[in-house]
Amino acid sequence: MLFIGAHVSAAGGVEYTPKRANEIGCNCLQIFSGSPRVWQKPKLESHNINKFFSEREKYGVLSVFTHAIYLVNLASDKSELVDKSVAALKYDMKFDAWLNGSGVIVHLGSHQGRGWEAVRVQLAVLIKEIIAASPQESTFLIENSAGQNGKIGSNLDEIRWLLDKVNSLQLGWCFDTCHAFATGYSLGGTLQAAESNNFHSESALRAIERLGLWSTLRCIHVNDSRDEFGSGRDRHANLGEGNIPQEELKYFLNNPQIKPLPLLLEVPGFDKKGPDAQNVRLLKQLLED
Ligand SMILES: [Zn+2]
Repeated sequence: MLFIGAHVSAAGGVEYTPKRANEIGCNCLQIFSGSPRVWQKPKLESHNINKFFSEREKYGVLSVFTHAIYLVNLASDKSELVDKSVAALKYDMKFDAWLNGSGVIVHLGSHQGRGWEAVRVQLAVLIKEIIAASPQESTFLIENSAGQNGKIGSNLDEIRWLLDKVNSLQLGWCFDTCHAFATGYSLGGTLQAAESNNFHSESALRAIERLGLWSTLRCIHVNDSRDEFGSGRDRHANLGEGNIPQEELKYFLNNPQIKPLPLLLEVPGFDKKGPDAQNVRLLKQLLED
């Protein structure tokens, strides 16, 4: 059984999302809990939760992930921004539990030049605080970043550090193929040379192994990259249209510990309307029998 998913629109209410996922060939999905560009969240009652569960059953949706909004920055030195970020993430954790979801995927934000060491304790304290205030069934998932502009979590060692420091069963992480490629982790079995001081001296799979990051890895964002290896830039491409060598992506996805995880597309879409049936077909083709 493969867990194939995509980010889908929750416009109109979460009750419409299982059908949208099914229409493009998915049995998993990811959504925002509200508009990704504003802090305000809709009231939970604005969704038809009973309809959501019946539609989820009808279309056989196996797992549902919530993606936190892009405004979040837990590494900021501005207390107002940190407070808003914490409040938004507490809402998302409640939302995740309410949907019987599999986790809230979070871009932690940027240290804005202060450096990882200067912000890591703050991050651990805030993640602990958010988890402590959240339902026990909810899960906080740190996503690896593309690294540009001081974004936290491009280096998988940082994710290891936070998992150890927070030490909660409600904390895990999500691996994004575009972000890893952009930050210089090779997805293949051999290392790629990069014209960048941004690349890593081990492949993504070896780094995950060395850091003992398998058991906490909950899902994969499968995206191609519009930018070059080691670019640090976070611009997703449709599968096969970007710079990630298809053989490398195939090698990575068919790893026996990666393949059984929920594989979620966040691609622009061939009609620029988000993940579509064509990308889902391409993803399934990459997964050999
Ligand atoms: Zn992602």
